[in-house]
Amino acid sequence: MNPASLPARHLTPVTAYIGVGSNLADPVHQVTSALDSLGSFPGTRLIARSHLYRSPPFGHPDQPDFINAVAHIETALDPETLLSELLRLEQAHGRVRLFANGPRTLDLDILMYGTECLQNAHLTLPHPRLAQRSFVLLPWLDVAPETLVIPGQGTIARLLSNCPGPMALPL
Ligand code: AMP
Repeated sequence: MNPASLPARHLTPVTAYIGVGSNLADPVHQVTSALDSLGSFPGTRLIARSHLYRSPPFGHPDQPDFINAVAHIETALDPETLLSELLRLEQAHGRVRLFANGPRTLDLDILMYGTECLQNAHLTLPHPRLAQRSFVLLPWLDVAPETLVIPGQGTIARLLSNCPGPMALPL
């Protein structure tokens, strides 16, 4: 691929981690199919995928359990373009935004993008709510080096040891 044709700012790919979740319309299929699709984004390679985990719904109990996973990618896309690709993939999976923490066919989050820290109207990096979510931290441990430090927050294992609520379980 010609790097000049990419909507990207990085010629050297950046390591990023993507959280994937679903609790509607065959969630295992939604999550595995989304993991497959990440590697077809422009300038992007899927490096590793976690196991699948099951977790109870967060916020609103009256909905099905979630299936979650985390992907490790390398991407030449800048963070905003990566977010646009993720939102487009959510749409392609029929995502309808009912209400916060409601049921969804597909939820995709940028957990971390290199060592970038930013906050604007569309995007916060690292993802602002990852520390409280075992359904993010457990699958993330599958694909990240133990020594990975999340900017400003420490290692995934340290966050997990302080994580409240029920633990996600591997399928
Ligand atoms: P939700 O899918 O309901 O969790 O929220 C998605 C919205 O959160 C997106 O439209 C983004 O604009 C915003 N957002 C902020 N930071 C992030 C992030 N790190 N990853 C994904 N979406 C984010």
